Amino acid sequence: MSVRYADIIIDISHEAIDRTFQYRIPEELEGQIRMGMCVSIPFGRGNSVRKGYIIGFSDKPEIDESKIKSIISINDNEITTSKTLIELAAFIRKTYGSTMINALKTVMPVKQRVKGLVKREVRLLLEPESVSRYIERYEKKRAVAKLRLLRELSEDIVIPYQLVTGKLNISTATLNAMEKEGVIAIEEEGYYRNIFKGSVDNEGSRYIKEIPNMEQQNAIDKVMDDYKAGVKGTYLIKGITGSGKTLVYIEIIEHILEMGKQAIVLIPEIALTYQTVKRFRRRFGDKVTIMNSKMSKGERYEQFEKAKNGEVSIMIGPRSALFAPFQNLGIIVIDEEHETTYKSDQPPKYHAREVAIYRALMCGASVILGSATPSVESYNKAISGEYTLLNLTKRANESAELADVTVVDMRKELEQGNKSMFSNHLKTQMMDRLRKKEQIMLFINRRGYAGFVSCRSCGHVFFCPHCDVSLTVHDSGTTKERLVCHYCGYEQKKPGKCTECGSPFIAGFGVGTQKVEEQVKKLYPDAKVLRMDMDTTRKKGDHEKILSAFEGGEADILVGTQMIVKGHDFPGVTLVGVVAADTTLFESDYRASEKTFDLLTQVAGRAGRGEKHGEVVVQTYKPDHYAISTASEQSYEMFYEEESAYRKMLSYPPFSHMLAVFMECPDDKISNELADKIASEIKSNFKTHMIGPCEAGIYKLGDRYRRVIYVKDKEETKLTMVKDYLEDYLDNTYKYKECYVSFDLDPMKSY
Ligand code: ADP
Ligand code: ZN
Ligand code: ZN
Repeated sequence: MSVRYADIIIDISHEAIDRTFQYRIPEELEGQIRMGMCVSIPFGRGNSVRKGYIIGFSDKPEIDESKIKSIISINDNEITTSKTLIELAAFIRKTYGSTMINALKTVMPVKQRVKGLVKREVRLLLEPESVSRYIERYEKKRAVAKLRLLRELSEDIVIPYQLVTGKLNISTATLNAMEKEGVIAIEEEGYYRNIFKGSVDNEGSRYIKEIPNMEQQNAIDKVMDDYKAGVKGTYLIKGITGSGKTLVYIEIIEHILEMGKQAIVLIPEIALTYQTVKRFRRRFGDKVTIMNSKMSKGERYEQFEKAKNGEVSIMIGPRSALFAPFQNLGIIVIDEEHETTYKSDQPPKYHAREVAIYRALMCGASVILGSATPSVESYNKAISGEYTLLNLTKRANESAELADVTVVDMRKELEQGNKSMFSNHLKTQMMDRLRKKEQIMLFINRRGYAGFVSCRSCGHVFFCPHCDVSLTVHDSGTTKERLVCHYCGYEQKKPGKCTECGSPFIAGFGVGTQKVEEQVKKLYPDAKVLRMDMDTTRKKGDHEKILSAFEGGEADILVGTQMIVKGHDFPGVTLVGVVAADTTLFESDYRASEKTFDLLTQVAGRAGRGEKHGEVVVQTYKPDHYAISTASEQSYEMFYEEESAYRKMLSYPPFSHMLAVFMECPDDKISNELADKIASEIKSNFKTHMIGPCEAGIYKLGDRYRRVIYVKDKEETKLTMVKDYLEDYLDNTYKYKECYVSFDLDPMKSY
């Protein structure tokens, strides 16, 4: 079969053209065109030259042969995506539903053009030991300008171009000469800049190689023996917090790299990059690069380029790092695999674990999932033999035992007249640690100052005018006091009086990080307190600053949200307080218990990581709930038993699959009509279990009305058919073009 035509998708930045076009492969390009390549093509009536990606081949013309245009050329310097990634996009598109363009955008970052002036930098290329030789040489030749620059560069190897030509007064002729000599390079800022600024790299010399213990070695051997025998599988490392999962990943990756292959390591959040990346950089140095959402598009694009060019072998990052264009991928590690952030919340709503397993299958790589609290889905697959289960049951640091957990019933505290947010037990423990100069972490599962705001006289609750959500007080008691919508960002001044009854008694309910911080400072005026939440970590590098300050002992107490509990290792912490353990239990989500159990287990894992014994105090109004009792016993197996029974009974994943059909519309009536229409289409065409339509948990958001339908079925393919059918139906129904419909297979959040 001779391939003569290529299916091409035109420039992925134009959503409007979500289809392929057939182009002829001209003779001179025959044999050179590959899947995923970027090519130039004539497009439209005027035959303007556009870019397109090859996503398929055929030997038959779909339309009149004479009307088919030819490919002009291959765009060599453009992002060429390998065949694997294009296939991955097709898999994502098919499984989760979205446009092909969105699927392609998911697998390949598009380089953002630098607008306006390009900033430049001058970088020293010399090895430190040869600097003095050049200084001597320049001195002899009396090359004062060169000397001036070299001296400056020996202090700081990168200097802004403006400083060089400005303050240092170096001419461009001198710069060009030095560049020719190979002493410096003139770089455009943003191009391959050092993304590891600050603390991450400062400790290379202090690195001591850890020797795996027996359990760790067994896990490493199992994966590597399989690997060398040609068996590539998915492994679930279930290791209690502190059992040393990272060392297992590192050792395995070292073997994989020795075999000339590359590794992708997914970690859930930016907050995690700090310590994990530090450990990888210590072991693998410049072979490691990272991705995170605080990097610019250009920076992210560059990391992918490095991966493609073989300049790095390990890519660490959140979900999107999964698409690093490595040519010879050997392994994908997903740390904290239970994290909900591995599921995209933008269409295509793919799950990184499933896509990773698919990518690994295509290129003969293995997948390692790691967690102290595996997702119910993964553990189910592990005990049924689909994944290989590897257990790490002991803390790696022999002297570090698991912390003791005390559950405090807050209802009893109230009965005994304690109205504060801290139980007497927690207060006693905090005093004790402050006296001993040991560190404390206080965890609260909500940001902002307080929960909703209401009138104490008439009960009126203040709502966002654009969303079906109550407003939250920020900066209470200060001149900046205001009400904020956490969903759309709407802000207003806190009213002095109730808008309904005129009462002046308006107050926030519940507790947030700011309030905890405030109370702690009141109780212990001499203690140094740091706070870490969304509000204190807006800028690049904020996370690292707070964490390294706490790690360095600059504070006694760290107050924070989820961010503080994941993956960090603070040997100085001997007390962790969970101020309100049950906030997540009340969410209307079938995963509420799992979320609560995970959080509590992770929190408990923070205490006593060093030499000293740790204690965790869990404050709750629901001490008997199984998520709380099993977490305080630190028994995942007990939790799994309860949870899987519940999910089996109600046909929730992983015992059945679920498709959320989510609809948003600027008009309430049309939204309602569309929901009914979709429901009747599903009912009359498929034999599945359907729930709804009903109003979404947040019914109105940003002036759009939202509804949802859930479809459940044991067979995933049946749900794919429902999705395909509805996509088709909507494509051909113009009436609802103002509405936005999206699909979420096995959703990890509630709508
Ligand atoms: P996990 O991710 O399983 O919670 P970590 O990988 O963070 O655990 O390891 C916990 C601590 O134990 C870290 O400080 C790590 O450096 C240390 N550690 C891990 N393995 C070993 C080992 N074999 N020998 C000594 N220390 C180890
Ligand atoms: Zn009122
Ligand atoms: Zn709002």
